[in-house]
Amino acid sequence: MVTITFDDAINNNNIDLYKEIFNGKRKNPNGCDIKATFFISHKYTNYSAVHETHRKGHEIAVHSITHNDDERFWSNATVDDWGKEMAGMRVIIEKFANITDNSVVGVRAPYLRVGGNNQFTMMEEQAFLYDSTITAPLSNPPLWPYTMYFRMPHRCHGNLQSCPTRSHAVWELVMNELDRREDPNNDEYLPGCAMVDSCSNILTGDQFYNFLNHNFDRHYDQNRAPLGLYFHAAWLKNNPEFLDAFLFWVDEILSNHNDVYFVTMTQVIQWIQNPRTVSEAKNFEPWREKCAVEGIPACWVPHSCKLTSKEVPGETINLQTCVRCPANYPWLNDPTGDGHY
Ligand SMILES: [Zn+2]
Repeated sequence: MVTITFDDAINNNNIDLYKEIFNGKRKNPNGCDIKATFFISHKYTNYSAVHETHRKGHEIAVHSITHNDDERFWSNATVDDWGKEMAGMRVIIEKFANITDNSVVGVRAPYLRVGGNNQFTMMEEQAFLYDSTITAPLSNPPLWPYTMYFRMPHRCHGNLQSCPTRSHAVWELVMNELDRREDPNNDEYLPGCAMVDSCSNILTGDQFYNFLNHNFDRHYDQNRAPLGLYFHAAWLKNNPEFLDAFLFWVDEILSNHNDVYFVTMTQVIQWIQNPRTVSEAKNFEPWREKCAVEGIPACWVPHSCKLTSKEVPGETINLQTCVRCPANYPWLNDPTGDGHY
């Protein structure tokens, strides 16, 4: 399994990139389109595009309303803060992207700042299924996703991180650090990187291609833990050489392997809960959902709502949605935007 994720707002800056990657021609071995997971933050997100992304069978998950850039905020936020940011973001997505199938079940904190017991207590209270914020240091073999019922199978990794210390009924789609050494057989130790764009020594398309192959092999040849490739759209968009290398690599993997699937985070959990052999996987129902989606988007011309909020003073922000414009720009204390709070 390979899990591609993208973080932050979906809007005109990246819609074309997503269309190019998920063009309906890249097929998993079961004949269905490859899928990815989008961790969405609120500001500047185009919710008609979120609706369309979900309609195509990708997974929509939450990445907060404010994307508060004070990293310490996330380490110290209360259960209530976490609820407003993450459950509030789910309210906004469900309403303005008109997603009604209860499929918004995942959380990733901004800056990968883990919120300790408060974050995970909120997730239990608000019935989120999984988090994908905790990074595991580069290791061989890499780690499979785990639940927070038990102690984490690795140390709490990163500067001043606050990992949960109690048991929580939440899955952790752990972010395995990737090995970015140019010559993995000879180079000495180099710390791994969790987001691909933080692997700052990758400078050319060839280097990125070799990096993808080496990390794929580390997962595929060892314990087949899902390979997570975690992106910000801008990194691929601003570096066409990286995008070319990435698409070449995806196409090559798909043509050379009948046992590698590009799936969403929830589809990984579904397989772990119900493991299938390679031949059974072809007919595994959860991996056939929205197999290859045709048809027209929900709306050709979304409403572009010019909105303000008392909580975001002095700014007028556009919100694109196929549903009716709200009275106020949705924010922490008024996620529906109708002013009743
Ligand atoms: Zn982010």
